[in-house]
Amino acid sequence: MRRRAGGPTATTSGTDAPPLSADRVRRFRRRLLEWGAGHRRDLPWRRTRDPWRILVSEVMLQQTQVERVVPHYERFVATFASPAECAAARPAEVVRLWSGLGYNRRALNLHRAACSVVNDHAGDLPRGDEELRALAGVGPYTARAVRSLAFGEDVAAVDTNAVRVLARCVRGAPLGATAATRLGDRLVPAGLSWEFNQAMFDLGATVCTGTRPDCASCPLRHQCAWRRDGTVEADPWRSSPSARAQSAFAGSDRQGRGRLLDALRGGGVAALALAGACGWPEDRARAERIAAALVAEGFARWSGGADPVLRLR
Ligand code: SF4
Repeated sequence: MRRRAGGPTATTSGTDAPPLSADRVRRFRRRLLEWGAGHRRDLPWRRTRDPWRILVSEVMLQQTQVERVVPHYERFVATFASPAECAAARPAEVVRLWSGLGYNRRALNLHRAACSVVNDHAGDLPRGDEELRALAGVGPYTARAVRSLAFGEDVAAVDTNAVRVLARCVRGAPLGATAATRLGDRLVPAGLSWEFNQAMFDLGATVCTGTRPDCASCPLRHQCAWRRDGTVEADPWRSSPSARAQSAFAGSDRQGRGRLLDALRGGGVAALALAGACGWPEDRARAERIAAALVAEGFARWSGGADPVLRLR
């Protein structure tokens, strides 16, 4: 399962959080935490509270599936065990280690963030929301994830999966990211934000999935607003801003750019093969525009004469 870069888009879109009774909050927490304790996925970044490692994992999880992230994460933190080690490397080394994950800009941002941590925070990740968000590539969601998962603050880290659970289960109607975050903050139990957020990630990724929620196995099925209310037919998640943004990714320039970068990592791509590598065999002009942007940004260069080949720099 992927998370959107920087977490869900921050917008209320008129979809505010509903009032919640203390009893409902209690029941939600109890069922979620009990389920989470028995179904937690064993992931390497869950075996640490090191803020740098948490940040690395969160940046990698933006737009990339968990299964793909695991080996990259282990290799990355073995090489750059601290912000200082990352900051001391050349950006190209960081990008090279990122190979296979896509969206190389994330690697460059992580390197810039590491440099800021060394230069402005004596090598330790800051704890404050504002300071975290001042780091390159760290948005509202990622800052909250670090505050909860590394520093144990009582804040909700509401990624796309969590928005989906909250929209369906708690609101029973579309929910914007800002309202979902406020709602999450009301549900987080004091002192247990790590457990709460991990359970939300796991539930959204494995049970309350985007296309086929497994309601029969869901610990929240008896309190789910969408499932309990037979009058609500349309999936609230489908109309939520985060879901619309996610589906907008399919067929987007970003998707084609990611495909082209993946192809370039496997070797050069001939000019005539660009459109196929982007996944749009019929749209050569669009593929050429994506390639030109990669060249302009310094990620790729053309080589060869009559039959030019695009290669990573
Ligand atoms: S009952 Fe179904 S829709 Fe409701 S939270 Fe659980 S999996 Fe999601």
